Amino acid sequence: MKASWKSFIALLCVLIACIAWSPAVLAAPAVAETAAGPVLASQISPLASNKTPEQIANDPAVKAAMDAAWADSNADNATTRHEEGGWIYEDADGNISVQRWPAGNRSSIDPCPPAPPQPGGQVVGEFHTHPNWHPPDGKDEAGKEWKQGPSEADKNAKTPGTTGIVQDRSGNVTLY
Ligand SMILES: [Zn+2]
Repeated sequence: MKASWKSFIALLCVLIACIAWSPAVLAAPAVAETAAGPVLASQISPLASNKTPEQIANDPAVKAAMDAAWADSNADNATTRHEEGGWIYEDADGNISVQRWPAGNRSSIDPCPPAPPQPGGQVVGEFHTHPNWHPPDGKDEAGKEWKQGPSEADKNAKTPGTTGIVQDRSGNVTLY
């Protein structure tokens, strides 16, 4: 009985070690198993991407998704404008893909849980729109002043080591 407990605890330790090491191991193609169910971004350690934030932001898949997100934001409509965004993934071959989030509110958006990471792939970034800031002074039609660029909440919510992208009404794309 004592011996089997020891075996059990040893096995548990091995499992915990595996879980602790899994982000590093995910890059290895030999690991074909992925966790079932959604994983929160905060629980995902970013894959060490060889791409710079600028390369991620300029990837055609990201640019196309951001263009679509901007169009969906209704930025020019004072009553229906809202934030849109999505996750950016990179696979083991360096291919970038995007998963859009559900539509947000006028000045906030809740990311959906990222899809379970594919073998060798990982969340490397996120993007969202800020449809309220209006050039030249940031004030909207009602005179309310909006801050340009990512908010402190945006910065705090982003997974460390990943690339954040915000697009505002001036057409500016800010990386954070
Ligand atoms: Zn924001």
